[in-house]
Amino acid sequence: MSENIRQGLTFDDVLLVPRRSNIQSRRDVDTSTKLSKGLKISVPIISANMDTVTEAPMAIEMARLGGIGLIHRFMSIQQQVSEVLKVKRSESIVIEQPCTISARATVKDAKELLESRNIGGILVTDAEVLKGILTTRDVLFEDDLGRRVSEVMTSKKDLVTATEGTNIEEARRILHKNKVEKLPIVDKDGKLRGLITSQDILKRQRYPFASKDKKGRLRLGASVGVKSDFLQRTSALVEAGADLILVDIAHAHSENSINAITKIRAKFDSVELMAGNVATADGTRDLIDAGVDAVKVGVGSGSICITRQVTGSGVPQLTAIMDCVAAAIDKEIPIVADGGIQSSADLTKALAAGASTVMVGSLLAGTDESPGFPILRNGGRFKVTRGMASLGAALGRREREQGGEDVEEDLTEVVPEGVEALVPYRGRTSEVIARLIGGVRSGMSYCGAKTLVELQSNSIFMRVTESGRKESLPHDVNPVE
Ligand code: 5GP
Repeated sequence: MSENIRQGLTFDDVLLVPRRSNIQSRRDVDTSTKLSKGLKISVPIISANMDTVTEAPMAIEMARLGGIGLIHRFMSIQQQVSEVLKVKRSESIVIEQPCTISARATVKDAKELLESRNIGGILVTDAEVLKGILTTRDVLFEDDLGRRVSEVMTSKKDLVTATEGTNIEEARRILHKNKVEKLPIVDKDGKLRGLITSQDILKRQRYPFASKDKKGRLRLGASVGVKSDFLQRTSALVEAGADLILVDIAHAHSENSINAITKIRAKFDSVELMAGNVATADGTRDLIDAGVDAVKVGVGSGSICITRQVTGSGVPQLTAIMDCVAAAIDKEIPIVADGGIQSSADLTKALAAGASTVMVGSLLAGTDESPGFPILRNGGRFKVTRGMASLGAALGRREREQGGEDVEEDLTEVVPEGVEALVPYRGRTSEVIARLIGGVRSGMSYCGAKTLVELQSNSIFMRVTESGRKESLPHDVNPVE
């Protein structure tokens, strides 16, 4: 038995050996990659499907920056769908179903609608025919809340409109020439068919690498479990526009998970399907055979995870990535390295080991876009994160599911595999991603790699000793920070 014991390595055990490079600038490298068999993204980073990391604000920001966010599943189907719709409606080339109000509605109705949707203007229609537009300015100082929308709106005859099929460049010219911000699209009968806004055009320019679908909407994924409502949940998420479904379970190399994947694949044959987590070649092969388009790898690697301590199971993450990549490479199924990323160096090593993308949890949990607010402790600012298998997360889940009944008693059965923790407040997600991806770009140049495929084929790992690790950190000085 003992001679069969393999050695497992993780990120800190190795360094990438520098290689001859003809890369002049970090801008010369291309970090685009495959998220799944059918989806490509420009930045190989995914925000984790955890309730302290990814809801709509994080998914919107991640997609704008060229990566992607996976909405967690620890909420009702309706709530999760609403998070998906927030992302899908946040920007597009043409808003297909813009918010409208009837000309007969009152100023009070209009004010309420503007406020609840948090928008600056609503199109006014009558039996789908465009009648005008009403903006916040039209009703700002209007004291008579009973007045009709038709009395205060800017009427259609004074509006600039465009016809169906108007492209972005034409729309930009029309908006500029007429100095307006909203361009309703109407058909030959005057019926409203969509809306193009200057905001959406500006966002396209501001985020040139954004992950977008064919309609110009931001891409996102959403996770489902393997029990009870997973088919119903998948159906609702796909209907709402989720670009990828993640079958999420701590031990995905299990009959439960394979059954769920098989059922989802049979019912939704064209959906991009990711599943995880596994940590072995066998696990990867079984998930691929069940029909997934990407495999998420990492058992016990997460920063808030105690699975290895509690169960004695797991595979050090670098070895897990390499084993799983070796099993998936011929089938061209991308591997997601999930958990344990603490720096751009870890990220570069995960990609060099063959992962196509890397999932990040606690590093993003401290940002403005993660759920929750910063708290003050010992003079520092922090945010709270927690493992999805922690006692706190289990308590939250049961409270939501059972309205709080008998929660304490039930929790005695829970064996937590995650902890709750404070992470430093890190400001904007864009700053964290810029630092991570900047480090990856430099790392690629040290390896002489212009693309991630080159990084994977060029890389040579060298094992480091404890003294090598010490040498890698600032040493024999007193760092100022
Ligand atoms: P991090 O980037 O924080 O190191 O790791 C994030 C990953 O940890 C998640 O994507 C997920 O796979 C894993 N994770 C989240 N919560 C738990 C938990 O409670 N237990 C375990 N074992 N892993 C968790």
